[in-house]
Amino acid sequence: MIYLDHAATCPMRECSLEQMTEAMQKVYGNASPSYPIAQEAKAKLDQARSVLADTIGADWKEIFFTSGGTEGDNWALTGAVEAGLPERRTGHIITTQVEHHAVLHTCAYLESRGYTVSYLPVDEEGFVSGESLRKELERHPDTVLVSVMLANNEVGTVEPVQELVRIVRNREEELRNADGEGAEPGREFRRKPARRILFHTDAVQAYGKLSIDVKELDVDLLSVSAHKIGGPKGIGFLYIRKGTRIGSLIHGGAQESGRRAGTENVPAVIGFAAAAKEAAADREKENATVRRLQLFFRDRLRKDVEEACGIRMLWNGPEPEETEEQTGTRRLPGNVSVSFPGFDQRTLLINLDLAGICASGGSACTTGALDPSHVLMAMTKDLQRSAGTLRFSLGPENTREEIETTLHVLTETMKRIQLCPRTSSEEL
Ligand code: PLP
Repeated sequence: MIYLDHAATCPMRECSLEQMTEAMQKVYGNASPSYPIAQEAKAKLDQARSVLADTIGADWKEIFFTSGGTEGDNWALTGAVEAGLPERRTGHIITTQVEHHAVLHTCAYLESRGYTVSYLPVDEEGFVSGESLRKELERHPDTVLVSVMLANNEVGTVEPVQELVRIVRNREEELRNADGEGAEPGREFRRKPARRILFHTDAVQAYGKLSIDVKELDVDLLSVSAHKIGGPKGIGFLYIRKGTRIGSLIHGGAQESGRRAGTENVPAVIGFAAAAKEAAADREKENATVRRLQLFFRDRLRKDVEEACGIRMLWNGPEPEETEEQTGTRRLPGNVSVSFPGFDQRTLLINLDLAGICASGGSACTTGALDPSHVLMAMTKDLQRSAGTLRFSLGPENTREEIETTLHVLTETMKRIQLCPRTSSEEL
């Protein structure tokens, strides 16, 4: 098998597997009671919280465990708008057309509850512009939340989140001034003004690959998932900046400072922290490996598919960075998204699958669905391009030989389809 679908999920890191297995055998106490095995579980939980907080420059008290990226996104969005503040019972949300469905479908749910939502467009490479955000903020003075992903799961575009947050903070300042807040001399020293517009970023794909510092980014909420970095599935965290008013998504016991109920999955948290620590320590080395493979894959696609076979190929998203220092400034290392207009992605995927190669269409969540990728449609508005798109996402264990095999299978499949365009995928 050749596994080229790391954006869908990753093989578990050895250190994560080992520590998790040991924890399942030994640290089985519920982290709430006061007897020793429970206290040991509580101590491990908080140690892991500190390790994870360090990976994003947060305080350990700002890390709240969730069941993964989907829950983190749902919690951030619904919690932010339904925080119980009078001004938050209605309000406007600004997000983008290229978010993961965990954000988009939550926005659709919130629209059904009476909130209004703007979906910012993106350019051909998948970037959101600061200008479009600025205009939308002006158009909607009742905006309570902005949610823009750090990196896109389908095409790897790294969004200018820091710049977008600055625009939001400037807008808050303008609104405060318009309200006369802070106009009274000395008033601004009496209390720190509350955030009016929360900024959430979905960092599920960026975490472990990009250097993230929540203080530098100045975000209020950031969601992460363990299984994208070689940790276990079913665990993640939501960073909630200290002082942020946010409602709960899951109600029950007093776990996670009363904000997220349910007995904590201590072994998964331990496995998550182990994976995160290793991912952070090895980030530069792993990024360098996958970036080199990404460039090799792109260049060979152009040579073997485009030049040698005359097959039209379109690269999706920004070009990968050419130097190691620039890695991840515009595109995630390891993401290869290409379109072959006129070809059917399902036929290509079935043939790759038959050869033991795991890749995907748009994202893993949309594979199997007949809808065109909302990300590629937002970027290119080209249905044919979207229908002929493949996403390969590379990991540090991949090799050039694996890429060569993939290229061979891909070109042979496309040559056969060209010779016999009506042949069904099963017959190829
Ligand atoms: N957000 C993004 C950008 C993702 O890529 C994914 C998963 O593919 C998610 C959210 C959902 O994360 P999880 O699978 O942990 O629920």
